[in-house]
Amino acid sequence: MGLTNCSECGKLYVENAARICPDCYRRQEDDAETVVEYLRDVDKATLDEIHQATGVKHKIILRLLHSGRIMGSTISYPCETCGTLIDAGRLCDKCSKNILDQIRTDERHQEHEPQSPSPKNRSRMYGNITDKE
Ligand SMILES: [Zn+2]
Ligand SMILES: [Zn+2]
Repeated sequence: MGLTNCSECGKLYVENAARICPDCYRRQEDDAETVVEYLRDVDKATLDEIHQATGVKHKIILRLLHSGRIMGSTISYPCETCGTLIDAGRLCDKCSKNILDQIRTDERHQEHEPQSPSPKNRSRMYGNITDKE
């Protein structure tokens, strides 16, 4: 256990499991409570609506959302790439599909470039075709 800088406020503190200083931790717990309290009467809200209503930072609401602290309500928040409102994962359908396509294209490149058919292979293929005929 050593001293480290808080990722929220930059203050030095003794390292702990929460990875933020005790002050920020307490503040975040308060924020969490505020958000959970607000959502008790709401089954659908956008990230911005929650922010407007509670004053809690988007980043903190998202963290609560991803850590499973917010349950029972549908929260819409912007896709990390294009900003379309989504309520699951980090990217909208379109962007996750784009990323999958991108990965597939990269894989195809990696597979093909090193083993482009050598002239020897090509002549063997050609030979097979003439054998059949
Ligand atoms: Zn702090
Ligand atoms: Zn998107």
